[in-house]
Amino acid sequence: MASPVNDPDHGFCRDCLALMPGRPPRCAQCGSPRLARHPELYRLHIAHIDCDAFYAAVEKRDNPELRNKPVIIGGGKRGVVSTACYIARIQGVRSAMPMFKALEACPEAIVIKPDMEKYVRVGREVRAMMQALTPLVEPLSIDEAFLDLSGTERLHGRPPALVLADFARRVEKEIGITISAGLSYCKFLAKIASDLRKPRGFAVIGEAEAVSFLAEQPVTMIWGVGKAFASVLERDGLRTIGQLQAMEQGELLRRYGSMGSRLYHLARGKDDRRVHPEHEAKSVSAETTFDTDLASLVDLAPVLRALSEKVSARLKKANMAGQTVVLKLKTRDFKLRTRNRQLSDPTRLADRIFHTGLQLLEKETDGTKYRLLGIGVSDLSDDDRADPPDLIDERARKRALAEGAVDVLRDKFGRKAVETGYTFGKGHRGRPARPEEEEEAEVRHPWERI
Ligand SMILES: [Mg+2]
Repeated sequence: MASPVNDPDHGFCRDCLALMPGRPPRCAQCGSPRLARHPELYRLHIAHIDCDAFYAAVEKRDNPELRNKPVIIGGGKRGVVSTACYIARIQGVRSAMPMFKALEACPEAIVIKPDMEKYVRVGREVRAMMQALTPLVEPLSIDEAFLDLSGTERLHGRPPALVLADFARRVEKEIGITISAGLSYCKFLAKIASDLRKPRGFAVIGEAEAVSFLAEQPVTMIWGVGKAFASVLERDGLRTIGQLQAMEQGELLRRYGSMGSRLYHLARGKDDRRVHPEHEAKSVSAETTFDTDLASLVDLAPVLRALSEKVSARLKKANMAGQTVVLKLKTRDFKLRTRNRQLSDPTRLADRIFHTGLQLLEKETDGTKYRLLGIGVSDLSDDDRADPPDLIDERARKRALAEGAVDVLRDKFGRKAVETGYTFGKGHRGRPARPEEEEEAEVRHPWERI
């Protein structure tokens, strides 16, 4: 198929994939009203795919009698709604709603206990179909993923927009559930787009319209802005993304720390995070070997701090976060000790990495002499869910703010420009001792989680 030109009037039929020049209200070939049309339709290549009411859709597929009935998946241990089908949603049922409330809203709903094994199996089938489109598939959960379809046009003989529409058709036919797709130039907007026209949706957000589209949206549309943080913004009079667009970056950083940077960039539709396929780096870590073996916490803590900052800097640069902190020690007689601790949510903050590592280290400073110390994080993910302001306590929140400010200064003046209390003035005693050993820190997976 010849690649269609980018013409604002050019589109295609989502049901039969016939190309549709001009602006007919329906497909000239099959009569479907489901036409895709957008001035940047054939230029965009970052997609977000999300299955519609996934668990409920799988149950409906397997029991056609449920098709036209309100179905709620949930009940289990927590007694809340996992997924409600669209019929139940119309009556006010929402995910995470307590079951008794859901049944108040929709008394005739059929409640089904989740069959996770089955959903995982179906989710894998959908994912395998995604991976046949591009190796750049980044799953976010069992039923949604980002896809980078750049450079796949020759392979598929059609631009990403048509590849996506065809994918939606095939999932319906081959798996028996429906999906919604969002297409854009970045992850942030692709994800928003996939949510715009659910179910069976297909929405496009182009570069030209990004800023004006976002201006009208609530601040909660920005990743990481949960209820608690939204109320902080609300207190400052900030409700729409348009209001954020009117603010200077410095002001946002001063007020909200590293979150301010995210607000500033995402509000403007600026998001350069790559689509990370699932089996990339397994951990990010840094380690150093000492000139003379160290045994006391007083000596080891500053080194841990410096290494934590290094790990954090690399996470931030890659827009990644890790949920498990791993401490590594090598004793004088070359025995390896690794200790790890899982956090409640992923982190990219030096402060959280350091404090978690310090707790682990305290237990290991029993007089043993160490020749090597390392710290890292595993369970890597994108940093969207990292360090939610809602969850970290007040002291940690202040340190996170301070860390955001330090990051800005280091961006401007270099890494050595700011030293924290733990590393400041320690000279070579507290710092990684051999410059050549520091190079090791750049290796991406020096050790696996144990
Ligand atoms: Mg979904």
